[in-house]
Order: sequence, then structure tokens, then C-alpha cells
Amino acid sequence: YLDEKLTVSGFTEMKNISESFNHMIVRMQKLEKSRQEFVSNVSHELKTPITSIKVLADSLVMQEDAPIEMYREFMVDITDEIERENKIINDLLSLVKLDKTASEMNIASININELLEQLMKRLRPIAAKRNIEVVLESYRPVIAEVDEVKLSLAISNLIENAIKYNVDEGWVRVSLNADHKFFYIKVSDSGVGIPEDAQDFIFERFYRVDKARSRETGGTGLGLSITRNAILMHRGAIKVYSKVNEGTTFTVRIPLSYIA
Ligand code: ADP
Repeated sequence: YLDEKLTVSGFTEMKNISESFNHMIVRMQKLEKSRQEFVSNVSHELKTPITSIKVLADSLVMQEDAPIEMYREFMVDITDEIERENKIINDLLSLVKLDKTASEMNIASININELLEQLMKRLRPIAAKRNIEVVLESYRPVIAEVDEVKLSLAISNLIENAIKYNVDEGWVRVSLNADHKFFYIKVSDSGVGIPEDAQDFIFERFYRVDKARSRETGGTGLGLSITRNAILMHRGAIKVYSKVNEGTTFTVRIPLSYIA
């Protein structure tokens, strides 16, 4: 009887080991697939501006006696494409840096009210160009243990998006609140909104709802994945609520004390 029991428990153990082994292989295959997708997305995104630059430059070279106005116009387009390439590279570098420093959190006690004030000061002039009002509602003073650079990057991406995907004369509201465990930052806007079926994908790298519009506004599709990574590193959470043509609200929740 004892022998039989041992055999049964040995069998169950073997079965468990083989199951977790299979599980591991499936996970590794998934990781490899997402790595391949990332590399192919990066190559595609980096190639697009280069292709445009080549077409623009080639057509100037081919056209004999092109008027100076045409040169000027094409050079403006070429400069725009170079700027776009620069933005993609900078966003990619932020993302890679976040990945690399995931374990190197530079934690300090930071006044979050002040941090938000500073971000708003930097972003208000951009909003003012389109008469978009940006307001901060601080419901209480908040001091929290965070990585200042990473949190600033995360929240400024949200505010930049709230401005970018807004209507002229619209508004952006940033609010800060806290309880005994967490602080909460809410970024709401009166903008174009995000269709419900797209809301699950917006945090993925390179995902853009409206590629044409996003291109016009200089989007790379990397901003929200940078934001999400930075928030997860603080053991926080981010959620989106949005309605097309009404606006969008991102809510962020982060523990007041850093949990390593
Ligand atoms: P991008 O660089 O294109 O802005 P993000 O990763 O920051 O990339 O955002 C992904 C997509 O989510 C954007 O292309 C845009 O379509 C949508 N989005 C993000 N924030 C907002 C917002 N506040 N209002 C409407 N759409 C938004």
C-alpha cells in the first residue's frame, strides 16, 4: 500500500514538473515572439522617415533646373522627417533606458505637488498655442517615495497626449489626491477620445489609434508604453476611461512608500 502511495505521489510530482516545464517553454516562446515583433516594428518605424527623405532628395536630384522654391519646400519636408526620426530614436532610448535601469530605481522623498507644478509650467506654453487651458487641482499635499525622473517622464507623457489629442480651446485637468496608502494622479482632457476597441492596445509599443493623425502630431506610439513601464516600476497601476469626441481620463495609482 505504501509503495503504491509513493508511486502515485512520484507520478504526480513528475507530472507537475513536466507541466511547469511546458509552461516555461510557452512563456519563452511568447517572449521570443514579442522580441521579434519589437525588432520588426523598430526597423519599420525607423525606415519610414528615411524612405521619405530618399524620395524627396531623389526627386530633386532627378529634376534638372528645379526652381529654388521647390528646393525650399522639399528641404522643409526633409527637415520634418529628420525631426521625426529624432523623436523615434529619443523615445526608443527612453524605453531602453527604463528597461535597463528597472532594478536601479533612484528613490527619494519627493513633493508630488511641486513635481506636477513644474511639469505644468513646462507644458503650458505648448497648450497655449492652441488656446488649451491646463489646470492643476491639488486636493492635499503629497510627499512620496518615487524615482523623480521616471515619474516625471510618465506623467509628462500623459499631459502631452492630453494636449496633443485635444481640440483647440479645449481643457486639460490634472488632479492629485491621496489616502493613507496611495497617491492618485488623474489626467483628464476634452479631446478626441479613444474608441473602446482600441483602449486595450494603447499601452503597447508603437500602437497608434489613428496613424495619420498621430503622424501629423508627431506621435511615435511609444509614449504610453514608456508611461506604463515607469508606473509599474513603482508598483503602481494605470487605467484609461474614454469616450470618442468627449474626452479621456487616465488615472494613476502609486504607493506612497516604495516597495522594492
Ligand atoms: P503617440 O506617440 O502616438 O502619442 P502613445 O503611446 O503616447 O503614442 O499613445 C498611443 C495612442 O493612444 C496615440 O497614438 C493616440 O491615438 C492614443 N491616445 C493617447 N492618449 C490620448 C488622449 N489623451 N486622447 C486621445 N487619444 C490618446
